[in-house]
Amino acid sequence: MDIQLIQGDITKVSADAIVNAANSSLMGGGGVDGAIHRAGGPEILAECREIISRIGSCNKGQVVPTSAGRLKARYVFHTVGPVWQGGAAGEAELLARCYEGSLELARELGLSSIAFPAISCGVYGYPKEEAVQVVRSVVDRWHEKTAGLTVIFVNLSRDMHRLYEKMFAGDAGANLSERKI
Ligand code: ADP
Repeated sequence: MDIQLIQGDITKVSADAIVNAANSSLMGGGGVDGAIHRAGGPEILAECREIISRIGSCNKGQVVPTSAGRLKARYVFHTVGPVWQGGAAGEAELLARCYEGSLELARELGLSSIAFPAISCGVYGYPKEEAVQVVRSVVDRWHEKTAGLTVIFVNLSRDMHRLYEKMFAGDAGANLSERKI
């Protein structure tokens, strides 16, 4: 994989798939979820409704694709991160599963790019540095398996963006580029 770091709004990013940090109802909400539904329009919510009527709810770590409405993307991958409960409730494994499930789906669909927000790092309260460690370990495990895939980590906040910069700067394997939107 090639890695890009972007500081800005994920709804402005062009990528084959944009990942949404959703909740188990897939009915939208605050934070990045609200921003994606606002920018993408009602088509995304209509698809989510239809999916939920079939599957009941989206489990933590599960990834559900929909189309992307007005976003500059082909798909939105909705995934539900863990709520931070102190770290002993399997949070790291669940968070890793959100990233890995999304990468797996990107590979299955033959996508060339995917953009991630910092899943669970807002309302769900995952400690930021620990979340970036989880991302790092996923990148290390998936680097070889995702040749040709550009993975974009998008952070609205400068602080969070900085943590990614620190984690990935000087990365020998990653073809790192950065920009701000
Ligand atoms: P969660 O419920 O999984 O914690 P949030 O949406 O509350 O999800 O926050 C996840 C991360 O997304 C936070 O770091 C937050 O600052 C960031 N975020 C919120 N809106 C956007 C956006 N439009 N683009 C990129 N990142 C965003």
